[in-house]
Amino acid sequence: MTEAADARTSVAVLASLPTEEFVAGIEAAAVRFDAATYPQRELPARDWAALTGAGVLLPVLPVEYGGRGSHVEMCRVVEVLAERNLAVAVHTAIVTGLALRPVVRWAGEETKREVLPLFAAPVAPTAGFASTEPGCGSAMSGLTTTFEEVEGGYRIRGRKHWQALSATASWWVVVAKRDRDGGREYGWFVVERGDGFRTSERYEALGLKVIDYGVNDIDAIVPAHRRIDVGAGDLSSMVDIYLSGRALISALACGFLRRLAREARAYADARRVGRSPLSAIGFVRHRLEAVDAAHTVCAALDHYVRTRLDLTADLTPAFPCIQAVKIVATELMVSSANHYQQLAGGEGYRNGSPTNIAAQAFLDSRVFTVFDGTNDLLGQQLAQHCLDRSPGRSLSAFLADWEPTAPAVPAHGLDLRFLDRELAQEHLVLAGRAIAYTFAAARVLQWARESGADADRARRAAAFLRADIDRVRVEFDLLDDLAPGS
Ligand SMILES: Cc1cc2nc3c(=O)[nH]c(=O)nc-3n(C[C@H](O)[C@H](O)[C@H](O)COP(=O)(O)OP(=O)(O)OC[C@H]3O[C@@H](n4cnc5c(N)ncnc54)[C@H](O)[C@@H]3O)c2cc1C
Repeated sequence: MTEAADARTSVAVLASLPTEEFVAGIEAAAVRFDAATYPQRELPARDWAALTGAGVLLPVLPVEYGGRGSHVEMCRVVEVLAERNLAVAVHTAIVTGLALRPVVRWAGEETKREVLPLFAAPVAPTAGFASTEPGCGSAMSGLTTTFEEVEGGYRIRGRKHWQALSATASWWVVVAKRDRDGGREYGWFVVERGDGFRTSERYEALGLKVIDYGVNDIDAIVPAHRRIDVGAGDLSSMVDIYLSGRALISALACGFLRRLAREARAYADARRVGRSPLSAIGFVRHRLEAVDAAHTVCAALDHYVRTRLDLTADLTPAFPCIQAVKIVATELMVSSANHYQQLAGGEGYRNGSPTNIAAQAFLDSRVFTVFDGTNDLLGQQLAQHCLDRSPGRSLSAFLADWEPTAPAVPAHGLDLRFLDRELAQEHLVLAGRAIAYTFAAARVLQWARESGADADRARRAAAFLRADIDRVRVEFDLLDDLAPGS
């Protein structure tokens, strides 16, 4: 057989494997990317080919395009990768969850036929998602990239920045605006780099070194069929496109924290302080408990996303729940990396330490509360969403009754009455966090019930979530103490 025929056969075999065998293959391919040994530098094309050859892109691609079309496997692939190397998992999640999913969900047949087979091949290109601009991150109203109709298609002009895979991705999903007749329309386009997508500056990011970032100047003409029908052209109808990346973070967090919990404990057992192991110190044990609890919570969030959501379908109805998943999972990633680094002492501040990966874990996880929608904004949106649905009753009464949070309120004895007041912007951000942690407490109950998990493990995780909610109450008091005239 020729090499090309071999490759076709291997893809066909991968596409038809049972899930467990398929995921085992990804696990085997991930070993060489282990964070303890894999260099912190841009992922070389041959290493991306090793991942695509193992099938990391197949779950997002429909069966009729040579893929596996599987929501559960999209989650499992990034979870498995995140346990080995968080940055490699993010690289994959960007291509699948952020860039290819919109093509699969909204592109017409002509664009799908043009693009998707490239990604089903064993040596596949990469793709990115271009929304953020130098003057427009959290608020889409600041978008300046424009589109206009020209003969045969659309011309898109503008500047984006901070895109993952800025200089290396061959295909892009780009958002632009058109202002006319006093109104604004948002348009989404599938753009090939050669259409006029140029990286004019490279950024040096603090972590996630396998991914390249930069400034991207766009002056592209794309054929008409490459406009994708994401929504009615207004902000509210295109929420779905931003939700898949946030939902996938639960799987990333679950894999990442499984490893951190395991390695933090092993480090603390192996390291001697005087005649005793580090883990004999009470406060070190408390830090280890916090990391274990974070892993448990993220396992519960991952269970929720896997069993209750479907990344291949419309995620809009799950908007508030996905905001909560993103807020809690990312805050726990950052706080756990901090615990791990602290208890690894000076060795935890050393890149390439032979005893731990704490420095890299810290740098790679830090940005999670910022990107994919900064957590502060997501908190505000979550609180506003709940307020809008509770006219005539208090927020605490709404949360005690609302399906995503209700079970946690009596089960964990939560008193959320501190939320029942006039909520200024700063209160909304904090209230959103309290709602997110209440949601997570309900997911821990659900996960424990459905997975038969150890009840004590669930109880301990819930105790940490309760403390997080209490901290929001204390911050409300602090805001009052600091208010002018108080
Ligand atoms: C490593 C990395 C990868 C990224 N990948 C991509 C990508 O692939 N594609 C892409 O398009 N973009 C990407 N981004 C951009 C990212 O999504 C934005 O940085 C993010 O949305 C925040 O926008 P901004 O940087 O403009 O911050 P700003 O909008 O300037 O906000 C700065 C800070 O202000 C505060 N803030 C803002 N709004 C509120 C609010 N309502 N309440 C309280 N506080 C608030 C928050 O603390 C926020 O972090 C990436 C960024 C990074 C750093």
